[in-house]
Amino acid sequence: MPQLPAMTKLRRPALKLGLAFLLLFLTASLSGAQKQNKLSDITATGGFLMNPYLLPVAPIPPRTPVNHFQAFVIPLTAPQPPRTVTVPIFMFHHVGEAPAGADAIRRDLTVSAADLDGQLNYLQSAGWHPITQTQLSDALFMGRALPGRPVLITFDDGYLDNFTQALPVLVKYDFPATFYIITGKVGQPGYLNWEQIGVMAIDGMDIGSHTVNHEDLSIVSTADLEHELVDSAGALSAHLGHPVYWFCYPSGKFNARVLQAEKADGYLLATTEKWGDRQSSSAPLELSRYRIRNSTGLEGFKDILRSS
Ligand SMILES: [Zn+2]
Repeated sequence: MPQLPAMTKLRRPALKLGLAFLLLFLTASLSGAQKQNKLSDITATGGFLMNPYLLPVAPIPPRTPVNHFQAFVIPLTAPQPPRTVTVPIFMFHHVGEAPAGADAIRRDLTVSAADLDGQLNYLQSAGWHPITQTQLSDALFMGRALPGRPVLITFDDGYLDNFTQALPVLVKYDFPATFYIITGKVGQPGYLNWEQIGVMAIDGMDIGSHTVNHEDLSIVSTADLEHELVDSAGALSAHLGHPVYWFCYPSGKFNARVLQAEKADGYLLATTEKWGDRQSSSAPLELSRYRIRNSTGLEGFKDILRSS
């Protein structure tokens, strides 16, 4: 079993015990699944192993456009009025140092751990409160109160450095964040594996879907659109043991057809690359975000928040 980094600080001792059982369970059942799965099965599921022992209560038929959250009903008691809340949502990608020889795009996507630490430290000292996806969803759909100066921190693509570099900084400040996973990339070099994703969830992080293959959803076929939406959430739910309601569009690309499918598939919130901080219950699948770049630094970060 791979060693967990010593810096992963779990919040409660009981969780440590839970984590130990989870890892034992994951390892035992994954090795069982590997024995049962042929290579053709693995290819058919998009490159990752569906673990039969971790499926949720109601099995999810693959490639079927059903609402995979149908067993979980949002407790809405009456029609709700439209609501708008001001929540800056930050979009990060890589954290750490870009490899030598990295191109301009890779460097632009990379925020150093020191910059991330400085930005989170500023959030804490200036009285901003990072919230979870559930808090934002409850505020939009049920009018539940948010803490003062709420923000949402998100990371796209599920890179390995999200675990090794970003998670320790988030845990240091006791801040939740959302990690949007490309499920077809899980376990590939440079990307998170399922065990690391499980640890992040236990550490209080939200896990969302960023599709199976990071396709441009505005141009894929209807069958591929359903595959990207349903099978990514299905894989995450199967491994996490709970449904996944949070989504992020690859490269921020979507259209009316994508929104319709997403809603039918049961997603509640989705983030775009539209610049802004006004989030509305009438467009919960079109949340605005602020992209944080390598060049943003602390001053750029403060400027974004000053404009909020
Ligand atoms: Zn992406």
